[in-house]
Amino acid sequence: MNAQCPECEGEVPVESGVLLGEILVCPDCGAELEVTTLSPLTLALAPREEEDWGE
Ligand SMILES: [Zn+2]
Repeated sequence: MNAQCPECEGEVPVESGVLLGEILVCPDCGAELEVTTLSPLTLALAPREEEDWGE
């Protein structure tokens, strides 16, 4: 099963048991992608977590 990377439009391999909200990494561009819908499988760029400065 594959999904399309919204960043580079490359194919991202997705495991069959993938969960909503799971974070995947595009093998082509290295973008972090969040699973936003399962049917059809759609990926969106995950907000990149900057360094956590704490409280
Ligand atoms: Zn990509």
